[in-house]
Amino acid sequence: AEARFIANNPLSQKQHTLAASSLPGGNTRSLLHTSPFPLTMNRGQGTHLWDEDGHKYLDLAGDLSAGLLGHTPHPAVRRALLTALDSVGLNLGATSVQEERHAALLCTRFRLDRVRMSNSGTEANLHALAGARAFTGRRRVVVFTGGYHGGVLSFPSARGVQGNTVDARDFVVVPGYNDLEGARRVVERVAAEGDLAAVLVEAVQGAGGVIPGTEGFLRGLRDAARAVGAVFILDEVMTSRLAPSGLGFELGLDPDLVTLGKYLGGGLTFGAFGGRAEIMAVYDPRLAGSLAHSGTFNNNTLAMHTGYAALSEVYTPEVSVAFNAEGDALRERLVVVARGTRLSFTGRGSLIGLHFTEDGTEEITSGEQIRGKERGDLRDLFWFEMLEAGFWITRRGFIALMLGTLGEELDGFVQAVSSFLGRHRDV
Ligand code: PMP
Repeated sequence: AEARFIANNPLSQKQHTLAASSLPGGNTRSLLHTSPFPLTMNRGQGTHLWDEDGHKYLDLAGDLSAGLLGHTPHPAVRRALLTALDSVGLNLGATSVQEERHAALLCTRFRLDRVRMSNSGTEANLHALAGARAFTGRRRVVVFTGGYHGGVLSFPSARGVQGNTVDARDFVVVPGYNDLEGARRVVERVAAEGDLAAVLVEAVQGAGGVIPGTEGFLRGLRDAARAVGAVFILDEVMTSRLAPSGLGFELGLDPDLVTLGKYLGGGLTFGAFGGRAEIMAVYDPRLAGSLAHSGTFNNNTLAMHTGYAALSEVYTPEVSVAFNAEGDALRERLVVVARGTRLSFTGRGSLIGLHFTEDGTEEITSGEQIRGKERGDLRDLFWFEMLEAGFWITRRGFIALMLGTLGEELDGFVQAVSSFLGRHRDV
């Protein structure tokens, strides 16, 4: 399969070689690297992509969930962008009406008292952590193996990826996601040392394998954090799409702080963090000793316009509900097709993870559970064959649906998975 990949993609290979002479490894976003070389995409339209060699793909990777809105701007987003360009101008270097409007909408929609904006989910998490530290006067943070909170806040479980964490010594990593007892022990131990500022967790581990946290685990974790006066931060950068007011609200988690990003900029660069007014007040510049949160592009004109349009006119609560129901339906069909094989599926709503394990583990609740049992060879084979069939998914088995993907295209994908399993009986 790899030999065919190389033969089919000479121009991508050539582009990769060229790129590697100016960018380490040929790209500027490490996870986009695939061996022997990544495909260079040069055009997107709706839910499709075209690569350098002219192949067309149905985009099921959805830019790791950020591409929710599709590659062609929705008319409302396009209008907002043109209004910003034609009637407002690029950055004003001042507070603006548009930033207030987007902030107010984020607060209403995601049930936040106050919000602040940034340029990425990574920044949002860094600032949320700084806020929690200022609020509590403590330093350390409990996170989970497999947790991903940004390029400098990652705690990978395996697969040869190295975490690259700022101030790594301040983070205490709990080995088992969904293991409430283990997490509680760590929270209590660090708190007893007098130094626990926050617990930072995803409601569904995204990069860690699209593994949903159980309601019991997440609520118990919140209670444990609260009991010791630590700030419970829910990273919803990926999961805010899963329910109209985010997954935290859906599960009744009532987090102290929430971090957001991705599609909420309408396709432009974006991040945000917010929550309880008394915590967010550490960022109020009218108060003595407030914490600085600056950033030239935090309130950039374009994202303030497009983000507002995306949330108010495109990804409405009704659309969110219907879209995630489609994802659940797709996952259920895939589960049926793969029953009794080494392939299994995880996820929630429009986010789907696929896993190849030696024993075909069906109920995957943490990366730890399948450590050492993963069949990377089958995962790679699957990826090569899906590309040949015209389906773009991530090499590590992540699927994030985009708005506008047609039912018949998803039928085609289910069929392609089924044919793969039929061709490789040993899977
Ligand atoms: N948190 C989570 C849960 C994410 O999935 C991501 C991005 N994949 C981030 C944070 C970081 O966001 P960004 O890439 O915008 O910095």
